[in-house]
Amino acid sequence: MSDCIFCKIAKKESPASIEAETDSVIAFANINPVSETHILIIPKKHVETFLDLDDLLLEMKSVADGLIKSNGIESAYKLVFNGGKYQAVPHAHWHLLGGKLEDNEDVLNKL
Ligand code: AMP
Ligand code: ZN
Repeated sequence: MSDCIFCKIAKKESPASIEAETDSVIAFANINPVSETHILIIPKKHVETFLDLDDLLLEMKSVADGLIKSNGIESAYKLVFNGGKYQAVPHAHWHLLGGKLEDNEDVLNKL
């Protein structure tokens, strides 16, 4: 989708700090992190919500596995999908959080 910010990041048309990449999945640092490690894992193709994800989820999981290990957060991590009114960016994305979390509930609620 041409006006989708995450599509633009996937096509390298918009800047992002890329943490991992495969043929169909890309992971980049959250611009507004709420924890020490806060990475977004997305399908490169425009898939709007979690409910629309198919076997791409398995590839996203393998990217998540690698990032959990490379960031050394095996002992404490969270993986979050937002949907419906909780989803601000309409391109499915998986939040990977680890390390020190913000202790401010208002910030965490913006996940
Ligand atoms: P949500 O759709 O509620 O899961 O929230 C979207 C998330 O995307 C928020 O945590 C934002 O900080 C993050 N975000 C939005 N735009 C960018 C961007 N250009 N680069 C990195 N992260 C972004
Ligand atoms: Zn998109």
